[in-house]
Amino acid sequence: GMEVRLVRRPVGTPVADDFEVASVPIAEPGEGEVLVRNDHLSVDPYMRGRMIDTKSYVEPFALGAVMNGGAVGTVVGSGAPELPVGTTVLHDHGWREYALAPSADFQRVDTTLAPASAYLGILGLPGRTAYFGLFDVAAMRPGDTVFISGAAGAVGGLAGQFARLRGARRVIGSAGSTDKVAYLRDELGFDAAFDYRDGAVREQLRAAAPDGIDVYFDNVGGDHLRAAIAAIRPFGRIALCGAISGYNQTRPAPGPDNLILAVGKRLSLRGFVVYDYADRTDEFEAQVGRWLLEGQVRLRETTASGIHAATGAFLGLFDGTNTGKMLVRL
Ligand code: NDP
Repeated sequence: GMEVRLVRRPVGTPVADDFEVASVPIAEPGEGEVLVRNDHLSVDPYMRGRMIDTKSYVEPFALGAVMNGGAVGTVVGSGAPELPVGTTVLHDHGWREYALAPSADFQRVDTTLAPASAYLGILGLPGRTAYFGLFDVAAMRPGDTVFISGAAGAVGGLAGQFARLRGARRVIGSAGSTDKVAYLRDELGFDAAFDYRDGAVREQLRAAAPDGIDVYFDNVGGDHLRAAIAAIRPFGRIALCGAISGYNQTRPAPGPDNLILAVGKRLSLRGFVVYDYADRTDEFEAQVGRWLLEGQVRLRETTASGIHAATGAFLGLFDGTNTGKMLVRL
Protein backbone atom coordinates (compact mmCIF):
# COMPACT_ATOMS: atom_id res chain seq x y z
CA GLY A 1 0.00 0.00 0.00
CA MET A 2 0.98 3.63 -0.42
CA GLU A 3 1.54 6.18 2.31
CA VAL A 4 2.31 9.90 2.48
CA ARG A 5 5.25 11.14 4.52
CA LEU A 6 6.46 14.55 5.59
CA VAL A 7 10.03 14.82 4.32
CA ARG A 8 10.77 18.51 4.90
CA ARG A 9 9.44 21.06 7.36
CA PRO A 10 7.56 23.68 5.35
CA VAL A 11 8.58 27.31 5.65
CA GLY A 12 5.63 29.54 4.91
CA THR A 13 3.08 27.93 2.64
CA PRO A 14 3.71 24.17 2.31
CA VAL A 15 4.53 22.83 -1.16
CA ALA A 16 4.23 19.39 -2.73
CA ASP A 17 7.97 18.70 -2.31
CA ASP A 18 7.59 18.82 1.47
CA PHE A 19 5.88 15.42 1.12
CA GLU A 20 6.56 12.10 -0.55
CA VAL A 21 4.36 9.18 -1.47
CA ALA A 22 6.02 5.81 -0.83
CA SER A 23 5.05 2.19 -1.16
CA VAL A 24 5.23 -0.15 1.84
CA PRO A 25 4.45 -3.86 2.13
CA ILE A 26 1.11 -4.85 3.62
CA ALA A 27 1.69 -7.16 6.61
CA GLU A 28 -0.69 -9.69 8.12
CA PRO A 29 -2.26 -8.78 11.48
CA GLY A 30 -0.84 -10.60 14.49
CA GLU A 31 -2.67 -11.56 17.66
CA GLY A 32 -4.70 -8.55 18.90
CA GLU A 33 -4.05 -6.52 15.73
CA VAL A 34 -6.24 -5.53 12.83
CA LEU A 35 -5.51 -4.55 9.25
CA VAL A 36 -7.73 -1.76 7.92
CA ARG A 37 -8.17 -0.59 4.36
CA ASN A 38 -8.77 3.14 4.60
CA ASP A 39 -11.78 4.50 2.72
CA HIS A 40 -11.57 8.20 3.66
CA LEU A 41 -8.70 10.29 5.00
CA SER A 42 -9.13 13.62 6.72
CA VAL A 43 -6.94 16.63 5.92
CA ASP A 44 -7.13 19.36 8.57
CA PRO A 45 -5.67 22.82 9.17
CA TYR A 46 -4.22 21.77 12.55
CA MET A 47 -1.81 19.50 10.65
CA ARG A 48 0.06 22.63 9.55
CA GLY A 49 0.97 23.23 13.19
CA ARG A 50 2.22 19.67 13.55
CA MET A 51 4.69 20.23 10.72
CA ILE A 52 6.59 22.69 12.90
CA ASP A 53 9.10 21.14 15.25
CA THR A 54 7.72 22.55 18.49
CA LYS A 55 5.58 20.83 21.05
CA SER A 56 2.02 22.14 21.28
CA TYR A 57 -1.15 20.31 22.25
CA VAL A 58 -0.29 17.64 19.67
CA GLU A 59 3.11 16.09 18.96
CA PRO A 60 4.94 17.37 15.86
CA PHE A 61 5.13 15.01 12.87
CA ALA A 62 8.51 13.33 12.57
CA LEU A 63 10.41 13.83 9.32
CA GLY A 64 10.23 10.77 7.10
CA ALA A 65 7.24 9.42 9.02
CA VAL A 66 3.66 9.04 7.85
CA MET A 67 1.32 11.99 8.25
CA ASN A 68 -0.96 10.50 10.86
CA GLY A 69 -4.45 11.88 10.90
CA GLY A 70 -8.10 10.96 11.10
CA ALA A 71 -9.37 8.21 8.80
CA VAL A 72 -12.23 5.79 8.42
CA GLY A 73 -11.86 2.37 6.89
CA THR A 74 -12.89 -1.26 6.77
CA VAL A 75 -11.27 -4.15 8.63
CA VAL A 76 -9.83 -6.52 6.01
CA GLY A 77 -7.74 -8.74 8.28
CA SER A 78 -8.25 -9.39 11.96
CA GLY A 79 -6.42 -10.97 14.87
CA ALA A 80 -8.92 -9.41 17.29
CA PRO A 81 -12.36 -11.00 17.79
CA GLU A 82 -13.99 -7.66 18.80
CA LEU A 83 -13.25 -6.18 15.35
CA PRO A 84 -14.04 -8.82 12.74
CA VAL A 85 -13.39 -8.44 9.01
CA GLY A 86 -15.95 -6.04 7.52
CA THR A 87 -16.22 -3.74 10.55
CA THR A 88 -16.18 0.01 9.80
CA VAL A 89 -13.74 1.85 12.06
CA LEU A 90 -12.49 5.33 12.88
CA HIS A 91 -8.84 5.86 13.79
CA ASP A 92 -5.84 8.14 13.61
CA HIS A 93 -3.55 6.21 11.22
CA GLY A 94 -4.39 8.36 8.22
CA TRP A 95 -2.56 9.32 5.03
CA ARG A 96 -1.99 5.68 4.09
CA GLU A 97 -3.98 3.10 2.17
CA TYR A 98 -3.66 0.33 4.77
CA ALA A 99 -3.24 0.64 8.51
CA LEU A 100 -2.02 -2.18 10.74
CA ALA A 101 -2.17 -1.60 14.50
CA PRO A 102 -3.44 -2.97 17.81
CA SER A 103 -7.24 -3.19 17.87
CA ALA A 104 -7.40 -0.58 20.66
CA ASP A 105 -6.36 2.06 18.11
CA PHE A 106 -9.60 1.54 16.17
CA GLN A 107 -13.09 2.58 17.16
CA ARG A 108 -16.15 0.90 15.65
CA VAL A 109 -18.62 3.39 14.14
CA ASP A 110 -22.37 3.20 13.64
CA THR A 111 -23.06 3.65 9.93
CA THR A 112 -26.85 3.50 10.39
CA LEU A 113 -26.87 7.06 11.78
CA ALA A 114 -24.67 8.56 9.07
CA PRO A 115 -22.17 7.38 6.43
CA ALA A 116 -18.71 6.54 7.77
CA SER A 117 -17.19 9.77 6.42
CA ALA A 118 -19.44 11.75 8.79
CA TYR A 119 -17.20 10.54 11.61
CA LEU A 120 -14.52 12.79 10.11
CA GLY A 121 -17.04 15.65 9.93
CA ILE A 122 -20.17 16.32 11.91
CA LEU A 123 -19.77 13.31 14.22
CA GLY A 124 -16.02 13.77 14.49
CA LEU A 125 -13.55 16.51 15.29
CA PRO A 126 -15.18 19.35 13.30
CA GLY A 127 -18.62 18.64 14.79
CA ARG A 128 -17.29 18.56 18.34
CA THR A 129 -15.25 21.69 17.75
CA ALA A 130 -18.30 23.56 16.47
CA TYR A 131 -20.55 22.27 19.26
CA PHE A 132 -18.33 22.85 22.28
CA GLY A 133 -16.77 26.00 20.86
CA LEU A 134 -20.17 27.58 20.35
CA PHE A 135 -22.16 26.33 23.32
CA ASP A 136 -19.46 25.97 25.97
CA VAL A 137 -16.57 28.28 25.10
CA ALA A 138 -18.65 31.12 23.62
CA ALA A 139 -21.64 30.22 25.83
CA MET A 140 -24.05 31.02 23.00
CA ARG A 141 -27.63 31.53 24.19
CA PRO A 142 -30.93 31.75 22.31
CA GLY A 143 -31.42 35.31 21.10
CA ASP A 144 -27.71 35.96 20.50
CA THR A 145 -26.42 37.43 17.26
CA VAL A 146 -23.56 35.17 16.19
CA PHE A 147 -20.74 35.83 13.73
CA ILE A 148 -18.69 32.94 12.33
CA SER A 149 -15.61 33.22 10.13
CA GLY A 150 -14.45 30.39 7.89
CA ALA A 151 -18.19 29.79 7.75
CA ALA A 152 -18.25 27.61 4.63
CA GLY A 153 -15.65 25.21 6.03
CA ALA A 154 -16.17 22.06 8.08
CA VAL A 155 -16.28 23.62 11.55
CA GLY A 156 -17.78 26.96 10.50
CA GLY A 157 -20.65 25.50 8.48
CA LEU A 158 -21.65 23.33 11.41
CA ALA A 159 -21.25 26.11 13.97
CA GLY A 160 -23.57 28.33 11.93
CA GLN A 161 -26.22 25.64 11.65
CA PHE A 162 -25.94 24.73 15.34
CA ALA A 163 -26.38 28.42 16.26
CA ARG A 164 -29.56 28.62 14.20
CA LEU A 165 -30.91 25.38 15.70
CA ARG A 166 -30.26 26.67 19.23
CA GLY A 167 -32.27 29.82 18.57
CA ALA A 168 -29.77 32.48 17.58
CA ARG A 169 -31.48 35.73 16.67
CA ARG A 170 -29.20 36.23 13.72
CA VAL A 171 -26.32 34.20 12.26
CA ILE A 172 -23.71 35.92 10.08
CA GLY A 173 -20.91 34.19 8.20
CA SER A 174 -17.87 35.17 6.21
CA ALA A 175 -16.12 33.12 3.53
CA GLY A 176 -13.79 33.57 0.59
CA SER A 177 -15.96 33.44 -2.55
CA THR A 178 -19.31 34.46 -4.03
CA ASP A 179 -20.36 30.83 -4.33
CA LYS A 180 -19.64 30.20 -0.68
CA VAL A 181 -21.64 33.26 0.34
CA ALA A 182 -24.61 31.97 -1.66
CA TYR A 183 -24.17 28.53 -0.09
CA LEU A 184 -24.25 30.03 3.40
CA ARG A 185 -27.40 32.03 2.75
CA ASP A 186 -29.33 29.66 0.52
CA GLU A 187 -28.37 26.23 1.82
CA LEU A 188 -27.19 26.60 5.39
CA GLY A 189 -29.73 29.20 6.49
CA PHE A 190 -27.34 31.97 7.53
CA ASP A 191 -29.22 35.27 7.85
CA ALA A 192 -26.36 37.20 6.27
CA ALA A 193 -23.01 36.38 4.72
CA PHE A 194 -20.21 38.22 3.00
CA ASP A 195 -17.06 37.52 0.98
CA TYR A 196 -14.09 38.82 2.97
CA ARG A 197 -12.22 39.38 -0.31
CA ASP A 198 -14.83 41.97 -1.35
CA GLY A 199 -13.64 44.64 1.05
CA ALA A 200 -12.67 45.40 4.63
CA VAL A 201 -14.10 42.84 7.06
CA ARG A 202 -14.92 45.57 9.52
CA GLU A 203 -17.21 47.46 7.12
CA GLN A 204 -18.84 44.33 5.78
CA LEU A 205 -19.52 43.03 9.28
CA ARG A 206 -20.98 46.36 10.33
CA ALA A 207 -23.35 46.26 7.35
CA ALA A 208 -24.39 42.69 8.12
CA ALA A 209 -24.83 43.33 11.85
CA PRO A 210 -25.78 46.98 12.32
CA ASP A 211 -26.78 46.31 15.95
CA GLY A 212 -23.56 44.47 16.73
CA ILE A 213 -22.89 40.85 17.66
CA ASP A 214 -22.94 38.90 20.93
CA VAL A 215 -20.77 35.95 19.94
CA TYR A 216 -17.84 35.55 17.57
CA PHE A 217 -16.60 32.09 16.60
CA ASP A 218 -13.09 32.75 15.26
CA ASN A 219 -11.61 30.34 12.74
CA VAL A 220 -9.51 32.92 10.91
CA GLY A 221 -7.89 35.46 13.27
CA GLY A 222 -6.20 38.63 11.93
CA ASP A 223 -8.57 41.19 10.42
CA HIS A 224 -11.58 39.06 11.25
CA LEU A 225 -10.79 39.07 14.95
CA ARG A 226 -10.12 42.79 14.87
CA ALA A 227 -13.45 43.45 13.14
CA ALA A 228 -15.32 41.24 15.60
CA ILE A 229 -13.82 43.06 18.59
CA ALA A 230 -15.02 46.30 17.03
CA ALA A 231 -18.54 45.00 16.33
CA ILE A 232 -19.17 43.03 19.49
CA ARG A 233 -21.47 44.33 22.21
CA PRO A 234 -20.60 44.66 25.90
CA PHE A 235 -20.18 41.28 27.63
CA GLY A 236 -19.71 39.63 24.23
CA ARG A 237 -17.98 36.27 24.04
CA ILE A 238 -15.33 35.20 21.55
CA ALA A 239 -14.34 31.56 21.04
CA LEU A 240 -10.77 31.43 19.74
CA CYS A 241 -10.97 28.24 17.69
CA GLY A 242 -8.26 28.86 15.12
CA ALA A 243 -6.49 31.57 13.13
CA ILE A 244 -5.88 30.03 9.72
CA SER A 245 -4.97 33.38 8.16
CA GLY A 246 -1.68 33.17 10.06
CA TYR A 247 -0.76 29.49 9.78
CA ASN A 248 1.56 29.97 6.81
CA GLN A 249 3.03 33.29 7.89
CA THR A 250 6.76 33.14 8.59
CA ARG A 251 6.39 35.89 11.20
CA PRO A 252 3.32 36.04 13.37
CA ALA A 253 1.11 39.03 12.60
CA PRO A 254 0.76 41.53 15.43
CA GLY A 255 -2.31 40.97 17.58
CA PRO A 256 -5.48 42.97 17.02
CA ASP A 257 -4.60 46.64 17.59
CA ASN A 258 -7.96 47.27 19.23
CA LEU A 259 -7.72 44.70 22.01
CA ILE A 260 -8.09 47.50 24.56
CA LEU A 261 -11.80 47.55 23.64
CA ALA A 262 -12.08 44.22 25.44
CA VAL A 263 -11.62 46.10 28.71
CA GLY A 264 -14.44 48.61 28.38
CA LYS A 265 -16.73 46.10 26.73
CA ARG A 266 -16.02 43.46 29.43
CA LEU A 267 -15.38 40.85 26.72
CA SER A 268 -14.45 37.22 27.19
CA LEU A 269 -11.97 35.82 24.67
CA ARG A 270 -11.32 32.16 25.31
CA GLY A 271 -9.19 29.67 23.45
CA PHE A 272 -9.98 25.98 23.51
CA VAL A 273 -8.87 22.59 22.28
CA VAL A 274 -11.56 20.14 21.29
CA TYR A 275 -9.78 17.19 22.92
CA ASP A 276 -10.64 18.64 26.33
CA TYR A 277 -14.27 17.70 25.76
CA ALA A 278 -13.73 13.95 25.35
CA ASP A 279 -15.74 13.24 28.51
CA ARG A 280 -18.81 14.99 27.09
CA THR A 281 -19.18 12.70 24.07
CA ASP A 282 -22.57 11.40 25.25
CA GLU A 283 -24.08 14.88 25.39
CA PHE A 284 -22.62 15.75 22.00
CA GLU A 285 -23.83 12.55 20.33
CA ALA A 286 -27.31 12.83 21.84
CA GLN A 287 -27.87 16.39 20.60
CA VAL A 288 -26.13 16.20 17.24
CA GLY A 289 -27.44 12.68 16.60
CA ARG A 290 -30.98 14.01 17.14
CA TRP A 291 -30.44 16.91 14.73
CA LEU A 292 -29.09 14.44 12.16
CA LEU A 293 -32.02 12.04 12.53
CA GLU A 294 -34.46 14.92 12.22
CA GLY A 295 -32.73 16.01 9.01
CA GLN A 296 -31.97 19.44 10.49
CA VAL A 297 -28.34 19.71 9.38
CA ARG A 298 -26.95 19.92 5.87
CA LEU A 299 -23.71 18.06 5.36
CA ARG A 300 -21.24 18.96 2.67
CA GLU A 301 -17.95 17.35 1.70
CA THR A 302 -15.32 18.23 -0.86
CA THR A 303 -13.59 15.03 -1.92
CA ALA A 304 -10.28 14.41 -3.66
CA SER A 305 -9.55 10.94 -5.01
CA GLY A 306 -6.62 8.65 -4.34
CA ILE A 307 -3.67 8.73 -1.97
CA HIS A 308 -1.67 10.86 -4.43
CA ALA A 309 -4.28 13.61 -4.03
CA ALA A 310 -3.84 13.89 -0.25
CA THR A 311 -1.14 16.54 -0.32
CA GLY A 312 -3.03 18.69 -2.81
CA ALA A 313 -6.21 18.38 -0.75
CA PHE A 314 -4.33 19.55 2.32
CA LEU A 315 -2.78 22.50 0.47
CA GLY A 316 -6.26 23.35 -0.84
CA LEU A 317 -7.40 24.17 2.69
CA PHE A 318 -5.27 27.30 2.49
CA ASP A 319 -6.71 28.30 -0.91
CA GLY A 320 -10.31 27.69 0.12
CA THR A 321 -10.71 24.84 -2.40
CA ASN A 322 -13.12 23.13 -0.03
CA THR A 323 -16.72 23.80 0.84
CA GLY A 324 -17.61 21.79 3.92
CA LYS A 325 -15.29 19.03 5.08
CA MET A 326 -12.21 18.31 2.94
CA LEU A 327 -11.66 14.57 2.51
CA VAL A 328 -9.62 12.17 0.42
CA ARG A 329 -11.45 9.11 -0.84
CA LEU A 330 -9.30 6.06 -1.50
P1 NDP B 1 -12.04 24.35 6.96
O1 NDP B 1 -12.91 23.29 6.41
O2 NDP B 1 -12.70 25.60 7.46
O3 NDP B 1 -10.94 24.70 5.87
C1 NDP B 1 -10.14 25.81 5.96
C2 NDP B 1 -10.82 27.06 5.34
O4 NDP B 1 -10.15 28.21 5.80
C3 NDP B 1 -10.72 27.12 3.83
O5 NDP B 1 -11.79 26.45 3.22
C4 NDP B 1 -10.72 28.62 3.54
O6 NDP B 1 -12.03 29.04 3.18
C5 NDP B 1 -10.35 29.25 4.88
N1 NDP B 1 -9.11 30.03 4.78
C6 NDP B 1 -7.90 29.61 4.37
N2 NDP B 1 -7.00 30.62 4.41
C7 NDP B 1 -7.69 31.71 4.85
C8 NDP B 1 -7.31 33.07 5.09
N3 NDP B 1 -6.05 33.51 4.90
N4 NDP B 1 -8.28 33.93 5.52
C9 NDP B 1 -9.54 33.50 5.72
N5 NDP B 1 -9.95 32.23 5.51
C10 NDP B 1 -9.03 31.36 5.08
O7 NDP B 1 -11.17 23.77 8.14
P2 NDP B 1 -11.71 23.24 9.54
O8 NDP B 1 -13.16 23.45 9.61
O9 NDP B 1 -11.16 21.90 9.77
O10 NDP B 1 -11.00 24.22 10.58
C11 NDP B 1 -11.48 25.54 10.78
C12 NDP B 1 -10.69 26.22 11.88
O11 NDP B 1 -10.86 25.52 13.12
C13 NDP B 1 -9.18 26.25 11.65
O12 NDP B 1 -8.68 27.49 12.10
C14 NDP B 1 -8.67 25.13 12.54
O13 NDP B 1 -7.34 25.30 12.90
C15 NDP B 1 -9.62 25.25 13.71
N6 NDP B 1 -9.77 24.05 14.53
C16 NDP B 1 -9.59 24.18 15.89
C17 NDP B 1 -9.78 23.13 16.73
C18 NDP B 1 -9.63 23.33 18.20
O14 NDP B 1 -9.69 22.37 18.96
N7 NDP B 1 -9.40 24.55 18.67
C19 NDP B 1 -10.14 21.79 16.20
C20 NDP B 1 -10.36 21.76 14.77
C21 NDP B 1 -10.17 22.86 13.97
P3 NDP B 1 -12.32 30.44 2.42
O15 NDP B 1 -12.63 30.10 1.00
O16 NDP B 1 -13.51 30.98 3.16
O17 NDP B 1 -11.10 31.29 2.54
